[in-house]
Amino acid sequence: MNFGFNPVSKPSHKRKKKTAKQRGAISNEVYNAAYERSGGVCERCGKGWYLECAHLIRRWKIETETTVNDVAMLCAPQGQTGTCHHWIDSTRTGKEWALAFRDKLYEESGENE
Ligand SMILES: [Zn+2]
Repeated sequence: MNFGFNPVSKPSHKRKKKTAKQRGAISNEVYNAAYERSGGVCERCGKGWYLECAHLIRRWKIETETTVNDVAMLCAPQGQTGTCHHWIDSTRTGKEWALAFRDKLYEESGENE
């Protein structure tokens, strides 16, 4: 039997993880890469419309930071019914499309989540 003292390293109270807001932030680099990928049209319906860089996944689900595979250029504004950005944020089929599209992007880029 071992009665030796085995100190367990103290848990750090420092916040190592970025906040959901920081993880959800879309950098210029990501925005530009997404825009280039889209060819300047909505990545779902192909309209050359006013585009927004839309999250394909809930921000709080993003582990480290938003990559180009977590977003899509979609027709907007998000608050307007009938646009793709509104659709993926407000409907179940839209959310499913967003997740499937994200999976496809990760597959194509060869990066694992
Ligand atoms: Zn669209």
